[in-house]
Amino acid sequence: MHPLVEDARELLIHQANQQGISIIITDGFRSVDEQNAIYKKGRETDGNIVTYAKGGESYHNYGLAIDFALQPSQNNVIWDLEYDGNQNGQSDWMEVVEIAKLLGFSWGGDFTRFSDYPHLQMDFGLSITELKWGKRPEDVTD
Ligand SMILES: [Zn+2]
Repeated sequence: MHPLVEDARELLIHQANQQGISIIITDGFRSVDEQNAIYKKGRETDGNIVTYAKGGESYHNYGLAIDFALQPSQNNVIWDLEYDGNQNGQSDWMEVVEIAKLLGFSWGGDFTRFSDYPHLQMDFGLSITELKWGKRPEDVTD
C-alpha cells in the first residue's frame, strides 16, 4: 500500500469509530493475478460481476485503493447502505464515505460506469494509463 493511503485508511477507521461506526477494510493491495481472478467472477466463473477492471487496470493493483464494509459486531459484516447503527438519522455508509472524502479519497459510488460502493481510492492525479506506463505518485510529489 502507498504510505499515504495506509495513513488515511487508519484515520478512516478511527474517525468512523468516533462517530459510533465500526468498519472493516475488506481489501487493499491486489496483485495483477488476483485482479484477473476476480475479473473472471460472473464471466468465466460463477457469481456476480464484481469488477470491470482487469489486472493492471484497478487502483488496487497500485496500492492506491481500499474497500470497506460495516461491521456492527464481531461476526457481522454488512454491505447495507441504509443501515443506521449509530441511530443519528443518517446512513452509516454515507457517513463513512463523507469522512473518506475529507481524507482525500474518491468514492466508487460516484463512478458513472459502475457504481462500486465499498471502493475508495486516491489517484494522486494519475490515470490508470499513466500507472500502467510506470508513473507513480512519488514521481509527482517529489
Ligand atoms: Zn475496490
